Amino acid sequence: MSKKNQNNTGCNFFNYSIEKNFNKAAKFISVDNGILDQIKECNSVYRMHFPVKIDKKIKIIKAYRVQHSHHKLPCKGGIRYSSKVNQDEIIALAALMTYKCAIMDVPFGGAKGGIKIDPQSTSKENIEKITRRYTYELIKKNFIGPGIDVPAPDYGTGEKEMSWILDTFTSLRPGDINALACVTGKPISQGGVRGRKEATGLGVFYGIKEFCSIKEEMSSIGLDVGISGKRIIIQGLGNVGYHTANFFYKSDAKIIALAEREGAIYNKNGLNVSKVISHLKNTGSILNFPDAVNIEKTEKALEIECDILIPAALENVIHKYNAHKINAKIIGEAANGPITHEADSILEKKGIVIIPDIYLNAGGVTVSYFEWLKNLSHVRYGRVEKKFSENMNGELLNIIETICKKTISEKEKKIILRGANEIDLVRSGLEDTMVSCFHKIRNLKKSLNIQNFRTTSFLLAINKIIDSYEKLGIFP
Ligand code: GLU
Repeated sequence: MSKKNQNNTGCNFFNYSIEKNFNKAAKFISVDNGILDQIKECNSVYRMHFPVKIDKKIKIIKAYRVQHSHHKLPCKGGIRYSSKVNQDEIIALAALMTYKCAIMDVPFGGAKGGIKIDPQSTSKENIEKITRRYTYELIKKNFIGPGIDVPAPDYGTGEKEMSWILDTFTSLRPGDINALACVTGKPISQGGVRGRKEATGLGVFYGIKEFCSIKEEMSSIGLDVGISGKRIIIQGLGNVGYHTANFFYKSDAKIIALAEREGAIYNKNGLNVSKVISHLKNTGSILNFPDAVNIEKTEKALEIECDILIPAALENVIHKYNAHKINAKIIGEAANGPITHEADSILEKKGIVIIPDIYLNAGGVTVSYFEWLKNLSHVRYGRVEKKFSENMNGELLNIIETICKKTISEKEKKIILRGANEIDLVRSGLEDTMVSCFHKIRNLKKSLNIQNFRTTSFLLAINKIIDSYEKLGIFP
C-alpha cells in the first residue's frame, strides 16, 4: 500500500476495509469469481478540476463524482464537502452506497461525490458558486439526472446545496418534467419530502431499537431488553448525530457523552440534548456546558464505558490503535466506515456487537428513494387518499357506536379518524424498511451461523446484486 494512500491510522479505507469485508462475505457464495469481481470493481470515476473566482482570485477546485455500480439506475449517493476529500475515499463511499441500496431494496446503483473544500471557512456565496459550477460539470458529462445519477446531502452539505444543484439543473434542462428528481434532500418548498432531514438519524434509532428489543441478543451481551436507561455516547453532532441523539433522548436513553471536533462533554447521569444544542448555538461549541465535564481530547470520549457507542461523523475513527480501549457493548455505525477492518476483528474478539453502516445508516437513502418517487409522481404522499381514509374511518366509527350503543369521546375520535399525512407515511415506511431488513439480516446470520452482522449484511447485499445481474441476463 503506498504511503500516499494511507490515512493517519495507517489504513486505506477502500482497498483494505471494504474489500476485506466483501471477501469475508463472498466465502459464503458459490458463483463465478468474475461476477464477484464485477460487483467489487468501481465502474466510473469522474475527477474534475474547475476554476472559480474567489475573493478576486482564481482558485482551482478539485472534485469527484464516482459511480460504483450501474446494475440498477439511477446511481445514488451523497456529495460531501471537506478539505480531506480524496479519490480513494469517494470510491470507498460509493461502494458502500451500492451495498446499502441493495440491502434495503432501494433500486439504485451506488455513487458518491465530493468537493475538496472546507465548508467552515468558505463563505456561503463561494459555496454557492462552487456548487453551481460542480453541477454544471456533472451535466456536461451526463453524470447527473433523474434516471442517471441522483446526488443527495452528505458530510458538509445539506438542503441549501441541494437547492442550488436543482436550480442549476433545471435552468440547463428547461422543460424536463422530471427535473425535480435530479437530486434529493431538497427543502420541502423545492420538492423535498417531509422527514428526509432526520431520516438517517431516525433509521439509526429504529435499527438499534430493534436489536435492543430482542431478548436473546441483549442477554448475550449482558443487557436488559429496551432502550430506556441505556448509556449512550454519540460522536459527531452534525445532521446525523444530532437527530440520532434526539431520538434516543426522547426515548429515555441516557446520553452520557457527546463528542465534537473541539472536544467532548460527559455527564454520567445523562445530558439534556436540547439544552446542549442551545448551548452549542449560543457559544459555538459544546464545551463548557454547565451540566457536564469537558473532555479535551475528543477521541477519548469513544473509550468511556457505555452500553451503546454511536460514531456519527467520519470514517476510520475506531482503528487498530484504539479498538482495544473501546468499552461499549454495542457499536451502531451511524457514519460510513467508522471502524477499520483491523479494529473490527479486535472488537469482535472483545464480544462487542457491531450494527454495520451499510444497514444502520441506510435510512437516509431510503427516504431519498421516497423523495425521488414523490418527484416522479408529481404528488405529495397522502394527498389523494387522506380525506377518503378519514371519511371511511368516520363511517366505521358510526357503525361501531351504533352496534355497541356507546359514544366515543371527541378526543378519541380525533385520533381514530385521522388520515395519514406525508410525514406519517414517510416515517412508517422508514420504520418498516429498517425493522424488516434487520430481521432479514438476523435470520440469515442465524441460518448460516455467521459470527457478525457486517459479514451477513455484505452477504445479503452481494446476493441481491448477483440476483439482479442474473435477471438482467448479463451472465448466462
Ligand atoms: N449521504 C447519505 C448516505 O451516505 C445519503 C445518500 C442519499 O440519500 O442518496 O447514505
